Amino acid sequence: MENGEKIIFENGKLKVPDRPIIPFIEGDGTGPDIWRAAVRVMDKAVEICWGGKRKILWKEVLAGEKAFRKTGSWLPDETIKAFQEHRLGIKGPLTTPVGGGIRSLNVALRQKLDLYACVRPVRYFDDVPSPVKNPHRVNMVVFRENTEDVYAGLELEAGTDKVKTLLSYLEESFGWHIRPDSGVGIKPISRTGSRRLIRAAIDFAVSRKRKSVTLVHKGNIQKFTEGAFRRWGYELAREEYPDLTVPWDQVKESSGDSRIIIQDVIADNFFQQALLRPEQFDVIATTNLNGDYMSDALAAQVGGIGMAPGGNINYQEGYALFEATHGTAPKYAGMDKVNPSSVILSGAMMLDYMGWHEAAKAIESGIGKAITTRKVTYDLARLMKGAEEVSCSRFAEVICANMAGE
Ligand code: NAP
Repeated sequence: MENGEKIIFENGKLKVPDRPIIPFIEGDGTGPDIWRAAVRVMDKAVEICWGGKRKILWKEVLAGEKAFRKTGSWLPDETIKAFQEHRLGIKGPLTTPVGGGIRSLNVALRQKLDLYACVRPVRYFDDVPSPVKNPHRVNMVVFRENTEDVYAGLELEAGTDKVKTLLSYLEESFGWHIRPDSGVGIKPISRTGSRRLIRAAIDFAVSRKRKSVTLVHKGNIQKFTEGAFRRWGYELAREEYPDLTVPWDQVKESSGDSRIIIQDVIADNFFQQALLRPEQFDVIATTNLNGDYMSDALAAQVGGIGMAPGGNINYQEGYALFEATHGTAPKYAGMDKVNPSSVILSGAMMLDYMGWHEAAKAIESGIGKAITTRKVTYDLARLMKGAEEVSCSRFAEVICANMAGE
């Protein structure tokens, strides 16, 4: 391998050398096909923008089926260490081991690196088949809290001794009578966890000159968890961004105010408004379960999860892992068939996070132009009139050619 340097994190900022080493997990199932396509596009974008001056030195690390085959572990310690050492990484989809000790490799990676913000940009590329009439009106970036809520893994199975102990404690101490044959889960939402996530969303909105941050919650019913998330959001904006933000009820129409509007909406209303008037939402900050549902619903609105990128980020320590949002699509494994856009656009997010904005823009524009040529993978071709179906690797070539202006 050529000599590369480590990305470091100093004084709250990433320092990216011209030849950074970046670990990657190629992924299971269709992962290797997608990864080959994605790395080609990312390398080409960097080459177009900086010639040979900048170059990513990729370092393969193992997780999933390949790791299990080679090492007997689904998630070797060396993989976690590599992400810690190099700060950033990117991954293809991973098979969730059935019946093993690990609930999900993705959840395990997020927990070990405390990647508290799941960031999912949702935008429309012209000509992508969409189930809604005006998909171009959707342009949002969802910041989903990634470590708390019902995802904390605090669940007890119905009928077990542990759940019986908990239920009798709740009856005795709080007078809460819960049916004895219940399973029980705990939903922690902390001020610390909420504030760091909302801070990430506001920082992003400020740096990208976005219009608003919307806190999406279910606080009308769950007052001390979801309701508190909302309250802590307004409190944080008031305390830490007094000059840069303004709560929605203090906005004066046509005042030319460029401050970021802080607003909130109840989750069920968000789903209907996102279909009816999506342009009223910009940056979104939300709790874990709401964010899970919302990210996929919004992705479907602009053309499906084959196109949706994602990043899991700890802004306080710089750690970040970018990933395909779809699964391994095992029935297409090794067929060089599926759409590589999700990992490619996740790569663009990674380049953007590194400060290599030009390369990120080149990729987005290359994908946009490639789609308008109507030479696309099967998932888009089957819904686009007059489209020519091309393989996963060919689609990467079409993107590269469009980035290079060929
Ligand atoms: P999936 O792999 O996402 O596949 C479901 C369907 O989505 C596919 O059959 C295909 O639809 C479409 N699809 C997925 N990726 C595509 C792509 N790149 N291009 C075009 N279409 C694509 O979901 P699954 O079958 O439920 O899960 C399979 C495995 O993946 C499981 O082990 C699961 O745990 C894992 N998984 C991993 C992640 C992750 O690592 N982030 C996320 C979700 C699931 P058509 O059949 O219509 O062609």
